[in-house]
Amino acid sequence: MNTPLTVTREKLLAALDAVQDPVNGAGLVASGALTALEIAESGKVVASIEAPADKAALYENARKKAEETLKAQHGVTQAIVVVTAHEAKPATPKGLANVKVIIAVASAKGGVGKSSVAVNLACAFAALGKKTGLLDIDVYGPSAPTLLGVSDQKPRALPDKSIEPIKVFGLTTMSIGYLVNAETAMVWRGAMATSAVRQMLEDVVWGELDVLVLDLPPGTGDVQLTLAQRAPLTGAVIVSTPQEMALADVRRGIQMFEKTHTPVLGVIENMAYFVNSDGTHAYIFGQGGARKTAEDVGVPFLGELPIDVSLRESCDAGAPLVATQPDHPMSKRFIAFAEATLVNAASAAKTAPIIRFE
Ligand code: ADP
Repeated sequence: MNTPLTVTREKLLAALDAVQDPVNGAGLVASGALTALEIAESGKVVASIEAPADKAALYENARKKAEETLKAQHGVTQAIVVVTAHEAKPATPKGLANVKVIIAVASAKGGVGKSSVAVNLACAFAALGKKTGLLDIDVYGPSAPTLLGVSDQKPRALPDKSIEPIKVFGLTTMSIGYLVNAETAMVWRGAMATSAVRQMLEDVVWGELDVLVLDLPPGTGDVQLTLAQRAPLTGAVIVSTPQEMALADVRRGIQMFEKTHTPVLGVIENMAYFVNSDGTHAYIFGQGGARKTAEDVGVPFLGELPIDVSLRESCDAGAPLVATQPDHPMSKRFIAFAEATLVNAASAAKTAPIIRFE
């Protein structure tokens, strides 16, 4: 890539966030108005701001300011900022009208077991007798089709253009991976990913659900933030490993949800330890990092998941452990996490979310 080294996404986002959103007064990034930012190798930058249809005119000044701000950045050769209007976001998108609780499962980076946790947590809600859905919007690696063993199935489009989800293991499921292959999803950027997610939330016939679990893409950037904002989230569960780095990871995750006023319902420490044949624990990735951070920051810690071969094998086999071996000790942990998450969701709904963060 020949992009001038001086142009970094972080710098441009920081500059854009200094421009005020005329409707809610926050920075354009923090408010979620900025939906896409593309940086070409030539130094040309294209950004889009999404405005409610009835307020689009108010954004003209902010658009101009954003363009000037971008142009003033070292290394930017050309800047174009567009305002796209969207219909006022209904409190609840049509397809979600009968969904009671929506829980996002998030992680600051890939490979920590976020998707495995999302799928098994969804099965755990189902095991508790809840009507449960799973929506996999991990554009960087949609894994629900594999984890659920339904890679060969395609959702049907109904005559009214709505989409029929795939039902498997008692779950109502939808995944970016059902619609396009992983490589295609991977190259989607901001605006495209956002509109695909909007379609999956609004056009899928979710029906009546007690809980919908959302598997977010790993990371805590603006893509994740925008996607998370598409759904009226009840709260989020953050998955992390115990490494030293987990400390920063968990904090970043919490910070992201704080921006959208989404309560963090719990942190799960995955791959916490390995049980040796003599029953002792080996703390391969260090001990207790995620737990400590959750406690420090003041968000609930749901518990630990050890490294477990059955979990890995069941994931590879497309047969979620909780659904196929509900009495397995790992399954019992997932069911306990699901119970605690629902309790925290109910109390979060009663009190305005207050997330301490320093
Ligand atoms: P992510 O969604 O964070 O990228 P995945 O859920 O795809 O991570 O998990 C990455 C790999 O780690 C998968 O092969 C999965 O089976 C395995 N894995 C996740 N959690 C555990 C665990 N607790 N014990 C053993 N293997 C695990």
